[in-house]
Amino acid sequence: MLSVLPSASLVVAPDGTVLRSNARAAGLGLVNRDAVTIPDIVHLIDRVSDDGHAREQEMRVRRPPLGRELLELRVRVAPLGTGAILVLIDDLAEERRVDVVRRDFVANVSHELKTPVGALSLLAEAVLASSDDPDQVRHFAERMQIEASRLSHLVQDVIDLSRLQGDDPLTHAEVVDVDELVRRALDEVRTLATRQEIELVTGEPCGGLVYGDERQLLAALRNLLINAVSYSSSHTRIAVATRTGDGIVEIAVKDQGIGIASNDLDRVFERFYRVDPARSRVTGGTGLGLAIVKHVSQNHGGECTVWSELGVGTTFTLRLPTYTPATTFDETGGEFAIDVMTVPIGEALT
Ligand code: ADP
Repeated sequence: MLSVLPSASLVVAPDGTVLRSNARAAGLGLVNRDAVTIPDIVHLIDRVSDDGHAREQEMRVRRPPLGRELLELRVRVAPLGTGAILVLIDDLAEERRVDVVRRDFVANVSHELKTPVGALSLLAEAVLASSDDPDQVRHFAERMQIEASRLSHLVQDVIDLSRLQGDDPLTHAEVVDVDELVRRALDEVRTLATRQEIELVTGEPCGGLVYGDERQLLAALRNLLINAVSYSSSHTRIAVATRTGDGIVEIAVKDQGIGIASNDLDRVFERFYRVDPARSRVTGGTGLGLAIVKHVSQNHGGECTVWSELGVGTTFTLRLPTYTPATTFDETGGEFAIDVMTVPIGEALT
């Protein structure tokens, strides 16, 4: 039942132990193992457990586990007949944010679409004007192919981003093996890197697990790797390092590329922001890659940060909450068992 509720939802025992929770609750970081992570919610549950009366409260709290983002929550707590307690949580700020973001996104997209569409129209005119010169026709047709492929990337990125901003992002959540994720992302960009004579290296496997949408996580990591290749020169190296610790899995993508100036660093995650629009045009970038990475990490309760120095290189670090299996009922007696998972602290990132 919890999995189809649109709210982040938990069923807790009278002592506050989480018996069941849905993906939305995991995405907001509200549960860690079998405990509710936000003290104000724990307190509300205690009061309902004491007197059996349903309660509703709005609260502003920091988003666990990193605490960098403010959540504005409406929390409803009601006793169930069985002695257990139902907790329904809605993120009020999210609803407002989605509305604003949608509005300026449409304006930006229309503007961005004009460039390749305008170019295609001019190139079509050029083909018509030079129809008796096969070399010119070939030349313009090749450029039309490039513009058409740019248009199709842009449309795909727009679709991905609006899905991430609109839907419940974790409806397809599952346990994802981070080492496997890294291996698959590297496989996908290997041809591109080899063509540009860029070496891809990885550190030791970290054994980390996260709970999330594998397709989205793969897209985020792929975007970081494609950028690392696009903004690096030949004969450089890209390293992917992973580590786990303090309930967080870290994936760092480090390149030895052109770097990003400090005054651009804050802005690179904005939609359609490019440091050098001309270079971005050559690499076929849409300006949406990092916005997608940012949304994927936030929707999983994590974050993406960047370190960079001009001419030295750039490191993007994706941090996601480690998956910790929640309490599960055993099939016979309705009792529950708790899987406790320990994760080793990996080598320091180099
Ligand atoms: P784009 O499609 O233009 O690459 P992104 O959203 O992926 O758009 O990135 C935004 C901008 O951030 C890029 O245009 C580029 O200027 C800068 N950038 C991203 N990754 C890197 C990197 N690894 N090294 C240097 N600059 C980068």
